[in-house]
Amino acid sequence: MINSELIKPKVIIIGAGFGGLALINKLKNKPVDVTVFDKNNYHLFQPLLYQVATGGLSPDAIAYPVRKITGKTNNVSFRMAEGKEIVAEENKVRTAEGDYYYDHLVIATGAQTNFFGNEQLEKHCMQLKSINTALDIRSDILEEFEKGVTHNTDEELKHILNFVVVGGGPTGVELAGALAEMKRNVIKADYGKDLDKEKMMVHLIESGSEVLGTFSDSLSKKAMEALGELGVKVWLNTRVETYDGKTLQLNNGNNILTDTVIWAAGVKGKIINGIDATCIGKGGRIKINDYMQVSGYKNIYAVGDVAIMSGDKKYPDGHPMVAPVAQQQAALLAKNILAQLENKPAKGFSYFDKGSMATIGRHRAILEAFGIRLSGILAWLGWMALHLMILVSFRSKLIVFTNWLWNYITYQRHIRLIIRPSDSKTN
Ligand SMILES: Cc1cc2nc3c(=O)[nH]c(=O)nc-3n(C[C@H](O)[C@H](O)[C@H](O)COP(=O)(O)OP(=O)(O)OC[C@H]3O[C@@H](n4cnc5c(N)ncnc54)[C@H](O)[C@@H]3O)c2cc1C
Repeated sequence: MINSELIKPKVIIIGAGFGGLALINKLKNKPVDVTVFDKNNYHLFQPLLYQVATGGLSPDAIAYPVRKITGKTNNVSFRMAEGKEIVAEENKVRTAEGDYYYDHLVIATGAQTNFFGNEQLEKHCMQLKSINTALDIRSDILEEFEKGVTHNTDEELKHILNFVVVGGGPTGVELAGALAEMKRNVIKADYGKDLDKEKMMVHLIESGSEVLGTFSDSLSKKAMEALGELGVKVWLNTRVETYDGKTLQLNNGNNILTDTVIWAAGVKGKIINGIDATCIGKGGRIKINDYMQVSGYKNIYAVGDVAIMSGDKKYPDGHPMVAPVAQQQAALLAKNILAQLENKPAKGFSYFDKGSMATIGRHRAILEAFGIRLSGILAWLGWMALHLMILVSFRSKLIVFTNWLWNYITYQRHIRLIIRPSDSKTN
């Protein structure tokens, strides 16, 4: 005989990013059966990826095994599997590891880089979205430095030592700042005899009229000043036309000879097959209502970067694609799912913006929260403190803190290994 009270509703979460983790935290040890899928076995703290890409941090400082979290619960299971397709009429998710059935499904798959359909750019630009891409960028930068030592005609050095970042949002600005710090400190200290650091140029290309356009004008200007002090050449009101792996063509008629272009100029939702095409909105994101329900589906929800909610009057074009939005939507959705078990009404989402910040190399950052605007060393300290607070585990906090301290004292970026994937398991 089956005791119906013992049958708990099945919740499937696809994605163990910021949204997925917030759901796990709110649903753990509650009367629901949760299965979380992720294609990786770890949660990735993307805000510090640029430091992995520039040799300041190792990957394990910002990645955390999901099983370390689910293992401590009695109702959340983890499956390392990629969600391939949703079969809504059967309440089923297809994964490479088999089919799974749900009562509630949450899509929390995040975003992917958007090249806006330009195949040339997609083929030749690097992107910063995962541990693999960050390590690729790190190896590429270091290989270029090594090439700079052995190839020394002016033309060759331009290709090798021009580093281009496209996109003047937080990711692009932070990456350009970190590259400029490498020029100042790493090249000077370790390549001094072999490479003229003045030959290295960092370019930042932005289509708008300012960098960090979501911040107030005064802070955007501060960011421009900081980039200028670091020697970054910022191209405002400039769009990339195309790139063949050697020459980057800009819409203002200029060309930049470069082997390295990092694309940080756009993202789009990472959707899964099976969701009706009419549910896909601006930026390739899944349209959701105020209760995070995907339009047209009662028990399928989406949260975070993959989702777009247009019901919030303050954000008619959807919320910003940042971690707090994913976390807040997920936390409310978890409460709503639990409320439903008790026949209580669901609550609608409203975003509580705690502010934004960005760092631009050593000692420089900007911070805007609750009407307060800060720049310089105080903002930089605030930026570091906040990131240390929100990292997932004590171990990560400790590794990141000690690395930052060591990098600060030595002016160096120590994790400078060139590692390319091996084509043989025995190598
Ligand atoms: C370089 C960079 C810097 C950033 N800096 C900041 C910052 O400073 N502050 C800030 O607030 N935000 C920042 N963001 C944005 C922030 O990381 C995102 O807004 C946040 O991660 C969104 O959370 P999410 O849960 O929606 O998606 P994610 O955290 O991206 O998680 C999605 C998860 O889904 C998994 N996944 C995807 N597809 C599948 C599938 N088919 N099957 C199984 N698993 C799948 C992925 O492996 C991933 O673990 C940054 C992003 C990047 C890329």
